[in-house]
Amino acid sequence: MATSSSGVLTSAQKRIALVAHDNMKPQMLEWSMHHRAELSNHILVGTGTTGRIIHEHTGLDIERLRSGPLGGDQQLGARIADGLVDVLLFFWDPLEPQPHDPDIKALLRIAAVWNIPVACNPSTADYILSSPMISSTYNRATPLLD
Ligand code: PGA
Repeated sequence: MATSSSGVLTSAQKRIALVAHDNMKPQMLEWSMHHRAELSNHILVGTGTTGRIIHEHTGLDIERLRSGPLGGDQQLGARIADGLVDVLLFFWDPLEPQPHDPDIKALLRIAAVWNIPVACNPSTADYILSSPMISSTYNRATPLLD
């Protein structure tokens, strides 16, 4: 894919998508509780179960899509393609096969296509959330659009 000077200016308030596979949900919960204050400055969206448990444990407002295996990953992928997600925090399980593996690959692929910052584990999510870019505007290069 040719990269280009085409880009989108993301605002200081980011649209952050959160997804965690079942074995990773404890880590996602611990991470989101630890970063509750920072997360409250942003617009959150999550797959069904991940979104529900984050809301229940932190009180954060988070839009809930379908559960991942029922299409939630694909919904997030569509949002990325529509320019509606700025950051993806996706704690996928590296040790267990998932029934919706094609959807997972598609989500990670479309995030790479659209140059979305992606964290697959808590330490990368720490780095992203502590970046000055998370709370300032950022010009994100995107594929050339027709
Ligand atoms: P869930 O989906 O948040 O509904 O569990 C996550 C996933 O398995 O992709």
